[in-house]
Amino acid sequence: MIISMKKSATQEQIDHVKMLIESFGYRVHESVGSERVVFGAIGDERGKERLTCLEAQPGVEKVIRILSPYKLASRETKAEPTVVNIGMGVKVGNRKLAVFAGPCAVESKEQIMEVAKTIKESGGHVLRGGAFKPRTSPYAFQGLKNDGLLLLSMAREEYGIPVVTEVMDIASIEVILENADCLQIGARNIQNFQLLKEVGKTNKPVLLKRGMSTTIEEFLMSAEYVLAGGNNQVILCERGIRTFETATRNTLDLSAVPVLKEKTHLPVIVDPSHGTGHARYVEAMSYAAIAAGADGLMIEVHPKPEEALSDGPQSLRPEEFKKVMEGIRRIAQAVGRDV
Ligand code: PEP
Ligand code: MN
Repeated sequence: MIISMKKSATQEQIDHVKMLIESFGYRVHESVGSERVVFGAIGDERGKERLTCLEAQPGVEKVIRILSPYKLASRETKAEPTVVNIGMGVKVGNRKLAVFAGPCAVESKEQIMEVAKTIKESGGHVLRGGAFKPRTSPYAFQGLKNDGLLLLSMAREEYGIPVVTEVMDIASIEVILENADCLQIGARNIQNFQLLKEVGKTNKPVLLKRGMSTTIEEFLMSAEYVLAGGNNQVILCERGIRTFETATRNTLDLSAVPVLKEKTHLPVIVDPSHGTGHARYVEAMSYAAIAAGADGLMIEVHPKPEEALSDGPQSLRPEEFKKVMEGIRRIAQAVGRDV
């Protein structure tokens, strides 16, 4: 942490701030320039908010953080990439890309079975499907809940494919753990810190979706909650953020991919379905995400998007998904990855 004094600071104020930094347990490195005094507080600044409060002291101009506020999620702490093991032979974060695909919501046995078959046949890796759905309208379909979980479990057994589903609250963690291989935390819950702490105590991988108005730093702080709970199996998912643009449902922030890759060792995947909101843009953004360095994709697929109970307009038909998978294979090869 760097504490820069004002040009007008008195000697008394400078001495007082120096004394305060030392009293917080830091060594002080004092640099006296021609215009101002700058202190370096030497010691681990993370988790110590007291230093930032020095900005309120008379004579202090600015307090500047040097290290990132997240520790366990940071590349500074762990340089080598984390590979998350979903189970059933699927890993995320190595050379091989992971494609998560399936309907927005589990709707019926026929629907989830047909999608699972499509995913498996076209070389996808993880079946997604919401059983508990966070909907903007309380009158919209809220998901099949426990029945949906059972249908996911059936598809898992039938096709030998691991499943991911959203955990909306602490109360449903237990039943989801029994039926799914990976816990999804949705965009709307990314700063539900109690929920993050609870999934941090589980031993199943956690897929964290970026909130629609979450900065990259806040996103990583949410990951830090899960890691701090003892669960180091975290996957980050960029799914678009809210901007002034209305042509797409969200603005898919693909620059977040290289930024996250630089800042964290955790694997990063991209969801072009929620990122754009329109099925016709999913193919282009899937390819762009892989070219940007993503470790995988999450794509919504529905046998009959026109009849979907949620997110039909952004869902690919099975044959469209198959075509996108072929393209993904070519792009992956071009950037030195496998699928
Ligand atoms: C979903 O994956 O269906 C979903 C609700 O996504 P998000 O939380 O990113 O909106
Ligand atoms: Mn959806």
